[in-house]
Amino acid sequence: AKAPSTTPQVVINAHDLPYLDKRLPVKKRLDDLLQRMTLEEKVGQMTQAERNALRSRADIATYGLGSLLSGGGSVPNPNTPESWANMIDTFQLNARAARLQIPLIYGVDGVHGHNNVIGATILPHNIGIGATRDPELSRRTGVVAATEVRATGIPWNFAPCLCVTRDDRWGRVYESYGEDPALVKSMATVIQGMQGKADGSQLNQNTKVLASAKHYAGDGGTKYGSSTTGSYTIDQGVTEVTRAELEAIHLDPFKTSVDLGVGTVMPSYSSVDIIGDDQGPVKMHGHAELINGVLKQRMGFEGFVISDWQAIDQLPGDYPSDVRTSINAGLDMIMVPTNYQSFVSTLIDEVKAGRVPQSRVDDAVKRILLQKFRLGLFEQPYTDRTHLGTIGSVAHRAVAREAAAKSQVLLKNQGNVLPLATTSKVYVAGSNADDLGNQLGGWSISWQGGSGKITTGTSILEGIKQLVPEATFSADASAPVEGHDVGIVVVGERPYAEGIGDVGNGHDLLLTAADKAAITKVCAATKCVVLVVSGRPQVIADQVGQIDALVASWLPGTEGAGVADVLFGKRPFSGRLPVTWPKSDAQAALNVGDAAYDPQFPYGWGLTTEAAARKALTDARNSLLRKGLKDADAMAAAVYIEVALRSKNWSTSQAYGVFQVLAQAGKHLQRTKVDSYAEGDAVVTAARWIAQHQIGQNHTATRSKLTSDAEHLLLTGDLSGAVTKLAAAYRS
Ligand code: BGC
Repeated sequence: AKAPSTTPQVVINAHDLPYLDKRLPVKKRLDDLLQRMTLEEKVGQMTQAERNALRSRADIATYGLGSLLSGGGSVPNPNTPESWANMIDTFQLNARAARLQIPLIYGVDGVHGHNNVIGATILPHNIGIGATRDPELSRRTGVVAATEVRATGIPWNFAPCLCVTRDDRWGRVYESYGEDPALVKSMATVIQGMQGKADGSQLNQNTKVLASAKHYAGDGGTKYGSSTTGSYTIDQGVTEVTRAELEAIHLDPFKTSVDLGVGTVMPSYSSVDIIGDDQGPVKMHGHAELINGVLKQRMGFEGFVISDWQAIDQLPGDYPSDVRTSINAGLDMIMVPTNYQSFVSTLIDEVKAGRVPQSRVDDAVKRILLQKFRLGLFEQPYTDRTHLGTIGSVAHRAVAREAAAKSQVLLKNQGNVLPLATTSKVYVAGSNADDLGNQLGGWSISWQGGSGKITTGTSILEGIKQLVPEATFSADASAPVEGHDVGIVVVGERPYAEGIGDVGNGHDLLLTAADKAAITKVCAATKCVVLVVSGRPQVIADQVGQIDALVASWLPGTEGAGVADVLFGKRPFSGRLPVTWPKSDAQAALNVGDAAYDPQFPYGWGLTTEAAARKALTDARNSLLRKGLKDADAMAAAVYIEVALRSKNWSTSQAYGVFQVLAQAGKHLQRTKVDSYAEGDAVVTAARWIAQHQIGQNHTATRSKLTSDAEHLLLTGDLSGAVTKLAAAYRS
């Protein structure tokens, strides 16, 4: 194995031990190692401590700790890629002092890139990735994150969050890909980007990490005001659902992650209360039926279950009962994270007393060691520094910029203000125009994130200035707006993580008085474009009438230039709402499928231009012709798309005919054997453009519902159904 220059050379397998022989099959190595281990060593493997909680580094070997983590903000000093790598190597060296020399598995929250490290590429938060509707892009975000995380010697990432968010007032909305389980599932491709093949055979590559699907299950469905920790807090609360809703909404995305071979799953702090059984709320960390039964047995999950931070302490009863309940429910490793000594001794006692079966411990340890073998940690525990240079590289930033651009959702575009000409006289204002930290959100350099220039990157203003160097910037709209062609006002939230996310804004999703005043001032003086930089929708009902163009920018990451790209037409607007945008913070949370819900903008809403829709269709036809020569359905779809393209005027009486042609294209795409997700998306984009153009931007509850339904059908693969719904929205 290659040991770093900063650490002494260590000889691995000096004694010809089978489990250290990489030529042997993993199963043989696993069995050999397991039969050598004492109970104490096994329990050590099941223990994860926070690195700052270590009394001394020697404790790693003394307790045989299986894992360490950096909780949010637990960063080395200085916070550079090199010091991360050195830190990991030092810990691994300590692990080598234990009798069996089992390597540690170190974990971090790289939830939108290697977001703890200064200078790393930080991607848009998941809510923005959901807006892109681009599974292939989601996969590439996983590649970027994994490459940068593993480059610093860390083989495990506590991501992705597969929560299906059902209440915009939740403080973790931005960690979700959206409110529809079909959307969340489509974005699970990020796991392939992080881990490679589903069989785990690529995990030993120096660009791959073990992923963690979290938080199992129902974290995004907790009731408003239901938590025990505060009357407004819904984070960590109770998800009250029928058995059918639990399956279809909250469990289904985890099935997808298991099929993709996800290496670890993290249960949710929240409880599940299944309507109709008489159990009442059960904490997920003690839910044997859902962890042992559904996840491991029914779904066939082979990886290991890692608890959330100190979460077992929230189970009812004393500490021995917490330990026993969680391990017996199927947890394999506990993120203790501070008092690891007492976890270790308690679990040993519970096993000795027969309250936790030895077989359960053996199963847990096998699962953990299997992943360590797959990751190649026994051969290469130290950082392979080959890819340190990719951290924050031009190539990775290009992916983040593309993602930022594709995540922008154009909600309103009166008079086609957007895209702007680079020759325009541009006035830029607003609290989030020139604040890198605000556009990163939480989980950025520190747990809660922070305002200001907290790392390397381009603010939205800096992105605009790259295209329009003369743009005037006025932080709170104090300079005169007159004399400009257009004003861009960037408003929204300040960073937060978990909880209700009420920093500066309250739990009510309202813009601050200063943000509102900036909008009013600029929009009264000139044509105006308002960007909302936030982790979740912000209520804007009373001002939307003053605004010419409105964009949901989400939390776009370090590449603000991607936002400028779509504003100035370097790329088309293609993003669609991953969550319904409410008119007021008092509107009920559950959006998809509720016919009575009358939102500001429906789920799936997102304007584009006719030119962009036509280009998407042209690309779709060409790609079908390229790959569909042997498939009659693909050929037929290409022909129907061609017919739609030849219809010159989509916005007149021909529109309904075009819908019918597109529905035919959709039918054939559904049947074709070629992989045609992107082509299907292009067909629906064209239908959406026609519908939105005809309807204008005046929603009724019926039209909103039809649009939401169309979006859902698209995600579940019913393309012609989606087109037909859009046609119905147009006619309603
Ligand atoms: C969060 C998890 C995270 C863990 C470790 C917890 O507070 O809920 O999402 O992975 O901390 O940082």
